[in-house]
Amino acid sequence: MTSHPSVSGDRSVSSGNATAETLGWNAPTVAHVLVEALPYIRRFAGRTIVVKYGGNALAGTSDHDALALFAEDIVLMHLVGMRPVVVHGGGPQISALMTRLGKTTEFRGGLRVTDAETVDIARMVLIGQVNPQLVTAINLHGNYAVGVSGEDAGLIRATAHDPDLGFVGDVDAINPGILQGLMADEYVPVVATIGTDQHGQPYNINADVVAGAIAEALDAEKLVYLTDVEGLRRDRDDPASLIRQTSANELDELIADGTIAGGMIPKVRGCSHAVRHGVERAHILDGRIAHVLLLEIFTDAGIGTMVLREDGT
Ligand code: ADP
Ligand code: MG
Repeated sequence: MTSHPSVSGDRSVSSGNATAETLGWNAPTVAHVLVEALPYIRRFAGRTIVVKYGGNALAGTSDHDALALFAEDIVLMHLVGMRPVVVHGGGPQISALMTRLGKTTEFRGGLRVTDAETVDIARMVLIGQVNPQLVTAINLHGNYAVGVSGEDAGLIRATAHDPDLGFVGDVDAINPGILQGLMADEYVPVVATIGTDQHGQPYNINADVVAGAIAEALDAEKLVYLTDVEGLRRDRDDPASLIRQTSANELDELIADGTIAGGMIPKVRGCSHAVRHGVERAHILDGRIAHVLLLEIFTDAGIGTMVLREDGT
């Protein structure tokens, strides 16, 4: 591609041995996409972008494809100078191991009742299985990713959410030093969301909540939730009711009136908390779309739901 990066020019498809046509792609379009990315690359250089990757996105049958595409997006962000931090869930994987071990999973109000054995299982799955899966997928491209759990260097201090639920934690405090250190050394941190209380007791914490808290603690530019639906819907059952742009105040109303339910609640709370505490933008995106992160971050196309700060900036 030696032609000037004009979107309208025909020069890039001129004759020759290896023209754009014979290569099988549309050179003006490709050039346009690359040029369109420039202001975003400049704007986000050196800025932190916290990305929560859902357990459901990892659990599908096309598992490895989705994971490989996600890893490419993270690596590309990293290589152009952004500072991605990956926070992952793993609910379906925890449930799967519980089933294999013959242990029943009980949910109350959407939260897993977590006895001592269950928190051990959650720890094994998140830190021993899901976390290295993501780390390895990223590191196929180079030695970029480092896995950490909330237990490492006191990253996540937890408290009990509700004694009746056992070891389900709330975030008490984030101590982001380990993440800042890794990013300063040009690594991409991948965070498993097990936290500990002051006695060293581990807790399983919802990854959406942790992602929001980490985005705030790192003064992130963006917080992005990748999930299994196209974004936030005004009518939970109607995919056409996607909310493209919203604010923290509107999100409060949507939670209060029951529009938002189940696993969407902690994402929405995470978004509104983050934009109220310094994060510029929060997004809820469809992780089923190939390279959805790149499309959102590097192009003018608005995808999924974007949450703005209250002042509309
Ligand atoms: P993840 O693994 O990404 O955390 P969850 O299942 O926890 O996935 O959360 C996403 C789910 O939230 C959606 O699949 C959808 O069923 C549900 N949901 C509830 N209310 C809404 C809403 N208003 N708009 C979109 N999804 C919603
Ligand atoms: Mg969830």
